[in-house]
Amino acid sequence: MKIGIPRALSYYDFFPFWYGFFSDLGIEIVLSDPTTKQTMSVGSSLVVPETCLPIKVYVGHILNLLDKGIDKIFVPSIQSIAPKIYNCSKIRGLPDLIRNVIKRDFTIVETTLDKSEKKQGLYEFLADAVKPFGITDMDRIKKASKNAWKVYNNFHVMTRSGVPYKKALKYAIENKVVIAENQKAYPINVALIAHGYNLYDERVSMKIFEKLEKLDVKVFTANQLTIEQMKKGLNSMKSKLYWANEYEITGAAGYYIQDRKIDGVITINAFGCGPDSLMLERMARYARKAKKPILHLSIDEQTGEAGFVTRIEAFVDMLYRKKRSGILNKIKIQDRKDKYTDVQCKDLI
Ligand code: SF4
Repeated sequence: MKIGIPRALSYYDFFPFWYGFFSDLGIEIVLSDPTTKQTMSVGSSLVVPETCLPIKVYVGHILNLLDKGIDKIFVPSIQSIAPKIYNCSKIRGLPDLIRNVIKRDFTIVETTLDKSEKKQGLYEFLADAVKPFGITDMDRIKKASKNAWKVYNNFHVMTRSGVPYKKALKYAIENKVVIAENQKAYPINVALIAHGYNLYDERVSMKIFEKLEKLDVKVFTANQLTIEQMKKGLNSMKSKLYWANEYEITGAAGYYIQDRKIDGVITINAFGCGPDSLMLERMARYARKAKKPILHLSIDEQTGEAGFVTRIEAFVDMLYRKKRSGILNKIKIQDRKDKYTDVQCKDLI
């Protein structure tokens, strides 16, 4: 029994859960290959140009799985994760979208989670996911769901302690829990706010973590926060929960904007994303009020790496200057400011 899972969209939020669930039931998971330029271009060729990049990438990953000979592909329709908390229309209608744009012979393992309209539970959602494999025993499904939560929770325990995303994912599926200790201090701390699929897909985010690391910047994401911290962030912005990723976007941003150790905030959003345009606007106003520098990076399949890097470098450079001038003021050597070179000031930080 094999199921294909596209390495896109919900993969970046829920793969530890899907892994724990399917593997407990003896279903082998076949992942699509990491995103490449080819994934983006074949995906883009099948949908209307206005579609956001993550959906184009998703279509490219389905094609990749079909090319690998996988004939059952998991395409969940995650409509609503809690009462009146919704995903965007593209994620909600994902199985229909895929059926309409990919005219090839394969089984869409389609299952719907809708906590708003149908008050449908997780077990029903999971039962539909394994029906095509002839698994209907609810006791087995509940047991597999327990294992899924275990892997998922282990993953989050690790990311919250500071273990990087990729390592935490690897350890979680190996059934290990590793806690990050003695973390290195960096001169600049930045919060990176985006959907998981815009952050952890290295082709889409153009390896932004590596780029910031090279600039001696420590990155904080929503994965390092607890739900309580994100709720606090959401409340501080006087914002209400509406979108499914509102905690990870608005909540995390609200929390980090108030966090004194964070020097600036970088957001990445897909061009044409409706939910993000609303959340980012609110976030930008709040950051302005709190005097926290914020950089918005918008991406589509045409985004060039050179422009992306220039904007990040300019932003980080500004953060260094801002921090340096704050320190110089603090130690009351304003009159001797000119004697310090940039490098010396960086050491001071
Ligand atoms: S939330 Fe935005 S980026 Fe994500 S699938 Fe929907 S429109 Fe696209």
